[in-house]
Amino acid sequence: MRLWVKQRYRCGICKKQIRRRDLFKDYINLDHIVAKSKGGTRDPENMSVTHQACNQAKADDCPCNWYGPEFCTTDIHGGDGDRRKRQSEELVNPAEEESLAIQEKANER
Ligand SMILES: [Zn+2]
Ligand SMILES: [Zn+2]
Repeated sequence: MRLWVKQRYRCGICKKQIRRRDLFKDYINLDHIVAKSKGGTRDPENMSVTHQACNQAKADDCPCNWYGPEFCTTDIHGGDGDRRKRQSEELVNPAEEESLAIQEKANER
């Protein structure tokens, strides 16, 4: 429950919203970010509220693909996490550009 709030009411994998009334349905799962088989713990830091389908899609993928490089379970993957990070930085930029454009328009008036 607290995890769900921490995740801003979103699935930890697809980031789509999870409604409160869906929270305890069986298609919502508590995911181990690092699988137990890979040494993951039940520590809240390693848990994530997800859709069951998303959880299954993630399955044996390295968690760094979904949760960021700090959750990488293998050494060979440093670059993978970096790529992911760059993508999320790129996602931020268009919004910034947009707000700049809005500012410019405001200045024109
Ligand atoms: Zn999901
Ligand atoms: Zn990885």
